[in-house]
Amino acid sequence: MRNKPNRRDFIKLAGLLPIGLVGPRILQKLGRRASVQSDKQNVLVIVFDAWSANHISTYGYERETTPNLSRLAENAVVYHSHYASGNFTTPGTASLLTGTLPWTHRAFNANGTVVEPFTTQNIFGAFQNHYRIAYTHNPWANTLLEQFKNVIDESVPWFSLFLRSFNDDLIHETFKNDDDIASVSWARNVNVSDDGYSYSLFFSHLYQVLVERSVAAYRKLFPRGIPSIASAHNSFVLDEAVDWTAKRLTEISQPFLGYFHYLPPHDPYRTSIDFFDRFKNDGFEPLDKPEDAFTKKIPKANLSKLRTEYDEYLLYVDEQYGRLFEQLNASGVLENTWVVLTSDHGEMFERGIDGHTTDTLYEPVIHVPLMIFEPGKSERVDIHTPTSAIDLLPTLLHVTGQGVPDWVEGKILEPYAGNNPDPNRGVYSMRSNKNGKYSPLTRASISLTKGRYKLHYYFGYEDKNIPEILKLFDLEADPEELVDLSTSQVSITAELLKEIKAKLTDANESYLHE
Ligand SMILES: [Zn+2]
Repeated sequence: MRNKPNRRDFIKLAGLLPIGLVGPRILQKLGRRASVQSDKQNVLVIVFDAWSANHISTYGYERETTPNLSRLAENAVVYHSHYASGNFTTPGTASLLTGTLPWTHRAFNANGTVVEPFTTQNIFGAFQNHYRIAYTHNPWANTLLEQFKNVIDESVPWFSLFLRSFNDDLIHETFKNDDDIASVSWARNVNVSDDGYSYSLFFSHLYQVLVERSVAAYRKLFPRGIPSIASAHNSFVLDEAVDWTAKRLTEISQPFLGYFHYLPPHDPYRTSIDFFDRFKNDGFEPLDKPEDAFTKKIPKANLSKLRTEYDEYLLYVDEQYGRLFEQLNASGVLENTWVVLTSDHGEMFERGIDGHTTDTLYEPVIHVPLMIFEPGKSERVDIHTPTSAIDLLPTLLHVTGQGVPDWVEGKILEPYAGNNPDPNRGVYSMRSNKNGKYSPLTRASISLTKGRYKLHYYFGYEDKNIPEILKLFDLEADPEELVDLSTSQVSITAELLKEIKAKLTDANESYLHE
């Protein structure tokens, strides 16, 4: 099914701006030639930011948001109850990368950082015999990658896959102490000779023209605006990031560990022209849910509109993942590469709350996709046991024949663990973005999912006039979290709360005297 056959061609045409060239050229010295026939096991982790499993049709969402994923899932291990360890980028990403919970790595504040041992005790440090390459569009995820740079062989600059990376202001801002050198290397790394320009032209003028021309062309392809970071003018095109990734992975040495963390479907939700208005007036009625104590008072009509725009953006993400997979398959990279597809947290449009800037931990903000594509595997396996982002690191080490270090808090995932799942295993998610990094947790939201039950425990929100909250849901009978059982299932509530409090006591111990 090809929607608008000209869009790819148009993007190529629009690409007068040599986006994507800065990264590889700056880093060319690091690249060694690939041997695609290698029997070495590569690992590629693909993260799409703020991608809620509750909006993915492969997992049962009513709107068909992921036709490509559904097709590809036929050859994957599909995890149905997978949880991010936090509800926004920093804790979600740090847990995924360190295999530890937020109260252990301590990156739980906005744009926060991990505590010292985890600058090397992380997925990059653990895969020390692999060629480690990492990229993210997301500045907060990039803060973490910066922290880990001593154990990453190729840190692709975050701005290198942005259209405005060619903007003078950004270059100057990025290299505050190094203006001249930055400008020179920036200019040297642009290849415009095919278009009849030469290096003798006045660069800043030329770039300005190219930027404007290119952005104008892209604008037609993205009716809601070119995808960008919410708070900045920097825009980017996911197609380009995908193409760059697929190409770069054929050039680097093997075995490699790749971590690519793209911003879509993070807001602002700006789908491509192919999917624009696809779900408009489709008759879909989201379930009506009561306003939460943490409501942001977003009217239902606005939530519904945002949901539709988000769902349309998911179609674009799904298309691009399909393209990436196709390119990796065509180049032979998939022959010996484990591919992991996941997200750092979800997104929500219910109970008066939009997005993921919320102190709540309802399913849509923490329930994320996880699929593992094993090289050469052509059957689908479905796993319904609750699993956690912290399980990825030990699992990937295990499947590539490496030991799991003792600082890892996650477990090797089914079906690779070789034993039956532990029925008593609890999966935690937490948010505590207004708590000191080195202080005991006194203001936090924590959820514990165990078997079919999930307990929400919120405390320390007196400043919002919200007393301590406990809510228990039976996710099997009530996946939409509508019927609070905390007062009817008293013993289950007490048991789960006891477990959370014991964890908290442990987690707080090292910080009591700070
Ligand atoms: Zn995020």
